[in-house]
Amino acid sequence: MAYEPVWTADPSKLNKFEFVKLEKDGLDVIRTIIEKYALEGYDSITPEDMDRFKWAGVYQQKPKNGFFMMRIRINGGILTSTQARAIAEIGQLYGRGLIDVTTRQAIQYHWLTVESLPDIFKRLEAVGLYSYEACGDCPRTIVGNPLAGIDPDELVDTVDLVEQINDYFLMNRDFSNLPRKYKMSISSNIYNNAHAEINDLAFVPATKVIDGEEVIGFHILVGGGLSAKPHLAQKLDIFVRPEEALKVAIGVTTIFRDYGYREKRHHARLKFLMADWGPEKFKEKLIEVVGELPSRGEDKLVGWQAAYYDGVHPQKGDGLNYIGLNVPVGRLNSDELNQLADVADQYGEGKLRTTMSQNILISGVPDDKVEEALQAPVLQRLTPFPEHFMSRTVSCTGNEFCNLAVVETKERARDVAKYLDEHVELDEKIRIHFIGCPNACGQKHIADIGLQGALVKTPDGMIDAFDIAVGGTLDPHAPKFNQVLKGRVKGDDVGPVLSQLVHFYKENRNEGETFHQY
Ligand code: SF4
Repeated sequence: MAYEPVWTADPSKLNKFEFVKLEKDGLDVIRTIIEKYALEGYDSITPEDMDRFKWAGVYQQKPKNGFFMMRIRINGGILTSTQARAIAEIGQLYGRGLIDVTTRQAIQYHWLTVESLPDIFKRLEAVGLYSYEACGDCPRTIVGNPLAGIDPDELVDTVDLVEQINDYFLMNRDFSNLPRKYKMSISSNIYNNAHAEINDLAFVPATKVIDGEEVIGFHILVGGGLSAKPHLAQKLDIFVRPEEALKVAIGVTTIFRDYGYREKRHHARLKFLMADWGPEKFKEKLIEVVGELPSRGEDKLVGWQAAYYDGVHPQKGDGLNYIGLNVPVGRLNSDELNQLADVADQYGEGKLRTTMSQNILISGVPDDKVEEALQAPVLQRLTPFPEHFMSRTVSCTGNEFCNLAVVETKERARDVAKYLDEHVELDEKIRIHFIGCPNACGQKHIADIGLQGALVKTPDGMIDAFDIAVGGTLDPHAPKFNQVLKGRVKGDDVGPVLSQLVHFYKENRNEGETFHQY
């Protein structure tokens, strides 16, 4: 019997945002932006359409006075130099030259006006890029292995699969009204470099002997996500052949669309449905939707390298290398992005690759060109040989631009990393993540040291402060979120306090012990 799509949410109990989506599909706002708002200006935008701007990949930036931020989807983080130059040019023309790399391998602009949006959409589309559905209650940017195709540690090249699944879901009105945002991750890297456990749906490498032959494919994890109530995705007892991955992605997304909760917005992510159903019931429903699937095979994840690549490394293919650069707290400018595109063309294969640690790689550099490439002026700041703490510090946008932020994060993160590099010497790399509110765009929960912004009262008024958590890991054998320590630290004290914490660890660690939980 064919699966019949149903919306199981009780119409009398829908949260008010559901009515905004029912009244007009989020994707329809793109046309309205082009044909109306870009011509009539910021003041003409209705509050409901302002909410729908997310489907165009656009949010109001703080303090809601006419400027916007935009995210561009970079499938699996892989960009051509032509695309990178187009991104740089748009940033220069409309976004004050500011380019941020996000923790989902996307590119983020700030300072855009509504009048500039149609031209930006056009310029992006001309190079095969889109901001559409980079935000909103829909399938977002698909994160993946930035080394796909050149990775000595992947079982199978996932470039085409990411494209196939992206192309199916992008602008697909069957899936443009999900209960909430929906994040997918696809990687065949054995070191879990696309952070499987914190996605709604993740494909991870696996093999299974079927009819006497070993098949390379995937296992899937479902129902992960961060924010105030973080959940690790759970494994389903199925094996997915690469040619069945799209079918499975459609099935899981269909279940979320039809059975996901729509009553309370803070309880609408897939993780809550998964927590209630459990993996067995979810598998049963998935099979009802897509048909029979083989049970699990052999898991091929062996560890976690946290999506860090700094330095020069051999890639698949004789005599070729990739160079992992550090982009401090994920921020660069248009001029630097242009220069990186030039380096990629001159010394590499004309590609840049964004990572979930907010950094950039240049791939395809032959052995005999590495030294010359390393001399490029742009690689002196965006260096492959960064200082310890600067190389491992991630930050969300914070209150410079984000309306939900409680505190400033990017500058603070940079200052803290610099302080630690000046005051602490350690023989292992500790990862530090900053977030400005519980929404966790900076993925605080998976850090060795995670800092979440809050305010504290002082005699001089409210000031920025941070809760500190330690011990996060996505080691596939024992993934866990970090644990919050007692007490809250004033923003200006974060550097010295972390310095004390690391020194205490250094003096008291047991032989062979590492700060990492993996
Ligand atoms: Fe904004 Fe909060 Fe996300 Fe930071 S974590 S970018 S403050 S919503």
